[in-house]
Amino acid sequence: MLAGQPVLILKEGTEATKGRDAHSSNIAAARAVADAVKSTLGPKGMDKMLVDSLGDIVITNDGVTILKELDIEHPAAKMILEIAKTQDDECGDGTTSAVVIAGELLKKSEQLLEQKVHPTILANGFRLASARAIKILSNISFEINIEKSDMVKKIALTAMTGKSVGINDREKLADVAEKAVRQISKKSNGGLKADIEDIIVEKKQGGSIVDTELVLGIILDKERVNPMMAKVITNAKIALINRALEIKKTEIDAKIQIRDPAQLQKFLREEEKTLRALADKIKASGANVVICEKGIDDLVQHYLTNDGIFAVHRVKKEDMEKIAKATGATLITNLDDLKSNLLGKATTVEERKIANSDMTFITGCKNPKAVSILIRGGTEHVITEAERALHDALKVVSVVIEDGKAVVGGGAAEIEMAIKLKNYAATVGGREQLAIELFAEALEIIPITLAENAGMDTIDTLITLKNQHESKKKNSMNFGVGVYQNKVVDMRSQNVIEPLRVKTQAIASAAEVATMILRIDDMIAAKKGAPSGGGAPGGAGGMGGMPGMM
Ligand code: ADP
Ligand code: MG
Repeated sequence: MLAGQPVLILKEGTEATKGRDAHSSNIAAARAVADAVKSTLGPKGMDKMLVDSLGDIVITNDGVTILKELDIEHPAAKMILEIAKTQDDECGDGTTSAVVIAGELLKKSEQLLEQKVHPTILANGFRLASARAIKILSNISFEINIEKSDMVKKIALTAMTGKSVGINDREKLADVAEKAVRQISKKSNGGLKADIEDIIVEKKQGGSIVDTELVLGIILDKERVNPMMAKVITNAKIALINRALEIKKTEIDAKIQIRDPAQLQKFLREEEKTLRALADKIKASGANVVICEKGIDDLVQHYLTNDGIFAVHRVKKEDMEKIAKATGATLITNLDDLKSNLLGKATTVEERKIANSDMTFITGCKNPKAVSILIRGGTEHVITEAERALHDALKVVSVVIEDGKAVVGGGAAEIEMAIKLKNYAATVGGREQLAIELFAEALEIIPITLAENAGMDTIDTLITLKNQHESKKKNSMNFGVGVYQNKVVDMRSQNVIEPLRVKTQAIASAAEVATMILRIDDMIAAKKGAPSGGGAPGGAGGMGGMPGMM
């Protein structure tokens, strides 16, 4: 009976893109993302200036930052953004590389798809290739003696080369990053573990990046509540309080009618007594420093000052937790619980003037693993780019301290992988061979882009590089794109070294996202603004703010 009548299973307005169209649209979107960050790759990469809808400006060279700032809408493009974020979380570096490799894999896939190679064959080939590439990487990696060698600092410097931060500044940041991570690293299972979340990073405009300082302790961007309080407290006993030291406001709007002055006096005296009691309880515990997450009433501030107690208030919750960890203090909500054994300990709590503001330094903490970094810089843009550079440095240092393995950068590792993968492809044979060869060629995009961004001849560079690597001479596998020398050079002797994990992760995630995108042959998108479908991708349309799409 129903013959000839279409069967509708989707809501009206739902957009469906199928087969080759779905592939083309997804590949175009992914490539657009890769193209957006490609020109930033490497030391000679350019910066991007991004202006958001509020007119705020970000100038950066950092792949993941650029992608986060772009208002990306296309679902496939969003998947690429996800790998950049994963890369950033796992390794702190290699985000641009991961995205560029993914883009190249997809671009090259398109040619094979046109030749009617089935996406499943490509996906299989990529899976084989990625596993093999990671094995090759591991074989060409070398061990680093974490205790002795200065390699750790070199790795931190390599991670920061692309950033628009001067060379002296990078030296300083690398130094600070290495010391900070070493300080917080702990022994675990025969190796070391370093969680950079344990490091507090504060910024203060003024001075320059070389004034950036590592503090063995905690820095709070807070001044003492009352200038009459002593600026320095030694042998600090710290009360960590997460309630307001004020008269509690009632939930309901209560009105008190006062008819004669005596009543008013009495009322005020009662208030005073309550506040005095708060200060007394703190004093009785033996504390000489109060750190409060909420506000401290003026009167309490006054009493504390008289009692010789140093106090700061409205401290961020996460800082409260870090202080607890560093000083051994217990967070107190009810002041009746405050006992001397719950106080934190530090050698010194001190207010220092940094540029034009006063900050509180808690040093000589009970737990020596508490460290903070105070980033300095002339302007806000300088500081935020320095912060991103420092983040990368901290992360790669922690990665290399944990793994103890490195590979040579500047495209050297990628070329070596490409050559070895091609040899491997021949042993696999069949149609998968094509996919593995494609994968090998896609890896060459890293040295090609490094050369291109440095204004070098890409074809010449690639040929010289390959010849060098195939020559099997001593150290030949360390040759890469010498962007400062404008020729192919031994990158290891140039100290261009990266953690093994950065490269492994970049290749694994690039292969994964490319495979995922290739396997999609049907895109069904709910009508924009339609409430149904929960997490349905937001239309297959264009990508906000990115030209040249589709
Ligand atoms: P990513 O976000 O991928 O880390 P970068 O812009 O930091 O992007 O560039 C990283 C690439 O630059 C890596 O391939 C790295 O080996 C290379 N590189 C870093 N320093 C140098 C250098 N001094 N000479 C040549 N290549 C370098
Ligand atoms: Mg980098």
